[in-house]
Amino acid sequence: MAGLVVTASVLVVGLLLAAYGTVSHNRWGINLQPVTCPYCHAAIPHVRKPKSLREALWGGRTCEKCGGVMDKWGRQIKT
Ligand SMILES: [Zn+2]
Repeated sequence: MAGLVVTASVLVVGLLLAAYGTVSHNRWGINLQPVTCPYCHAAIPHVRKPKSLREALWGGRTCEKCGGVMDKWGRQIKT
C-alpha cells in the first residue's frame, strides 16, 4: 500500500513539474510546437535522435544544417 502511495505521489509531482515547465518553458516542460534553429532558422524535424545524454534526458536538438545546439524550446545553448 505504501508503495502505491509513493508511486502516485511521484506521478503527481512529475505531472505538476511537466505542467509548470510547459508554461514557463523550462526543462521539465513538454514542447509540442515545431522548433526552428535559433542560428540559421532552418525547421527542425519533429522526430529526433538524441546526439548527447543531455538531449536524451531533457530534449533539445542539434541542427542538421548548421550543427547549432538548442534546447527543446528552440533557444540557443552555449556548449
Ligand atoms: Zn541551424
